Amino acid sequence: MLRLYDTRRRGTFAFRPRGKRAVTIYVCGVTPYDTTHLGHARTFLVFDVLARLLEAGGTRVRYAQNVTDVDESILQRAARDGVDWRELGRREERAFLDDMRRLDWRKPDVMPHATRELAAMIRLAERLRRRGHAYELPGGLYYDVSTFPRFGELSRYSVAKMRRILASQDDARLDDPRRRSPLDFALWRRVSDGPTWPSRYGRGRPGWHLECSAMSERHLGYPVDVHGGGSDLLYPHHECEVAQSEGAHGGRERFVRHWVHIAPVRLNAAKMSKSDGNMIFVREALKKNSPQALRLYLLDIHYRRPFDHDEERLARARDRAAALDDALGRGRLGPIERDRASAAVLGALEDDLHTDRAIRELERQARRKLEPGPVASLRTIARRVLGIL
Ligand SMILES: [Zn+2]
Repeated sequence: MLRLYDTRRRGTFAFRPRGKRAVTIYVCGVTPYDTTHLGHARTFLVFDVLARLLEAGGTRVRYAQNVTDVDESILQRAARDGVDWRELGRREERAFLDDMRRLDWRKPDVMPHATRELAAMIRLAERLRRRGHAYELPGGLYYDVSTFPRFGELSRYSVAKMRRILASQDDARLDDPRRRSPLDFALWRRVSDGPTWPSRYGRGRPGWHLECSAMSERHLGYPVDVHGGGSDLLYPHHECEVAQSEGAHGGRERFVRHWVHIAPVRLNAAKMSKSDGNMIFVREALKKNSPQALRLYLLDIHYRRPFDHDEERLARARDRAAALDDALGRGRLGPIERDRASAAVLGALEDDLHTDRAIRELERQARRKLEPGPVASLRTIARRVLGIL
């Protein structure tokens, strides 16, 4: 039985999916304007292992991950480089998919793009306005956070902290200063420059958070079993998604069963991020490391703990992947069994995805003298679930 942490409840709970036909997983994906770094890879590989683990146990999974293909950061980068924003987005998205494919990523079943789902977003904005959660200003349509009493429940941040984070966002300069509260956020911004779409609130662009509320419901239904991404998305992105999605549904049923947030990858104690430019790129790391070694490295620390990049640890991961290949690399894949060796590895994964403990357990079991059945089962777990063989 899988137990999974839920950020909202700040605890680990039995995973009881609501999805009728499949477990539904929605992951906030990339804004494609720069190269995939280890922080992205770690985040998406955690959900990859979650999906593989469920599927290995016979559960159907429907996994959606969005592509934010219009956004202030793409527009700013395109303007800086003198390229068309659509061309920049398409090129970087292809590069992202290529990097992740090389990491043997369990690709999402659907990857919705913001620019192709404007109609669903505008419908959701309209639903929120009709329910009294939104008001119009000359600058666009804003969500009135005072109409949603649970606002702030997910992140548990103070108003002062939320205001500080908001002020540092790329799109803060576009917000209408006349909004009722500085925490009120844009569902639609009336803007004249750059790409715009028509709506009853004037020509403009959707607020960033709107796409994930609209697209998760359109592709996975409501509620979703697992929703997540990097821990930096907790506020404002996910907090605002909750206000939108639950507000549109009358606030009765929770939007998400398990919120899963992946701690950042850091370089010299600072978060690896596009905006700060301190990154190790996946394609660079793959020049010296096999995909299996890089997966082992990135999965070797539990996802809720920050990950400090360390070249020596990466070098050891290379050796460990090679040793695992020596021990288990040749031979048939067997069905996943519940013998003692396999149960030890699966038990670590089912305990809130402790990939770190699972890998160590796998290494320990692989060194033992085991019967062919358990070995074939371990081999399947290493290859099909963890992807490190
Ligand atoms: Zn999102």
